[in-house]
Amino acid sequence: MSRPTEITIDLQALSHNVTLTEGLAPNSHHMAVIKADAYGHGACDIARALEGRVRLFAVSSLDEAVVLRDEGIHTPILLLEGCFDDGELKTASALGFHTVLHNESQLTALQRVPLNSPMHVWLKVDTGMHRLGIPSERVHQVFEKLRGCENVEDITLLTHLACADSVDTAMTVRQLDRFRQVMSSLPTGLPRSIANSAAILAHPQSHTEWNRPGIMLYGLSPFEHAHPAADRLKPVMTFHSEVIAVRDIPRGESVGYGAVWTATRPSTIATVAVGYGDGYPRNARNGTPVLVKGQRASLAGRVSMDMITVDVTEIGDVKVGDPVELWGQQLNANEVAQWADTIGYELVTRMPKRTPRRIV
Ligand code: PLP
Repeated sequence: MSRPTEITIDLQALSHNVTLTEGLAPNSHHMAVIKADAYGHGACDIARALEGRVRLFAVSSLDEAVVLRDEGIHTPILLLEGCFDDGELKTASALGFHTVLHNESQLTALQRVPLNSPMHVWLKVDTGMHRLGIPSERVHQVFEKLRGCENVEDITLLTHLACADSVDTAMTVRQLDRFRQVMSSLPTGLPRSIANSAAILAHPQSHTEWNRPGIMLYGLSPFEHAHPAADRLKPVMTFHSEVIAVRDIPRGESVGYGAVWTATRPSTIATVAVGYGDGYPRNARNGTPVLVKGQRASLAGRVSMDMITVDVTEIGDVKVGDPVELWGQQLNANEVAQWADTIGYELVTRMPKRTPRRIV
């Protein structure tokens, strides 16, 4: 018998989330952020499903983009971390990729390298996140050099928001102000890109010619707090397994490694064929919700490499082979993530190769 553990990817849910995203910012184009293997959902499958639906994909690096081209994806692709040397620039230009330019050494390389076709350059401005980007006071000079560079086809201005998911909007307001100031020193009419998922959902003033949704396309909210529009998203990934053993234990007996969970009443424990080797978080705490036969039960005992143990006392009549959902459309990955001191982004993105993926 093969292991019953897998993830399913619901392409109708993906399509629903794209429609929702478009409806929230009807005057913007949306590039689909499919870096890190489309946040663990499978970049080639997600890209194939979205070809013709979005006009641009975004990935982190050249390697990720080349894989997509090799798999026959024709839509233009933006490299969010840009190109770091002449070789990367030549490959990126030959394959028609767009590149972010976020530091001046990238500018030097672009000015120096002979390219057959000029590139679409996305000039990244550091408006306060201080991770990537040209400092605002240098943008005008860098822009002028880019404008005079024969390897540049056109320039879009881009920035990234540090706190768009926060209920405190002060940082977002400050970054948007800085971006506006920078834009006022440049020729009018340049295309811009600011909004990630949280900004698409919560900061309409950040919607520009190009938005950059990631997590919301996969149906997860970027927020820790409830948000009416985010509540309409449909999770694309569902993580399933099955019960492989069931036992009754008396009050006072403990379960699993380290004996960190002890039954406070006579209990029924279901063992499920999923562990940290399959992408379930090792640090999920006792009490983490798990759906067994569609009903909520809770994690009892430490997560092992291949198994978890679940207190199913309240469910009754649980048998080997019963279906289990670890997260997905019935149990949101963000809820599970909170029990593991992380975020839904991380849970879906770090699915290991061992866990098979099926498109539905
Ligand atoms: N834009 C940039 C530059 C990013 O790094 C990311 C993701 O980290 C996104 C957009 C998409 O963000 P989100 O998944 O929160 O929508």
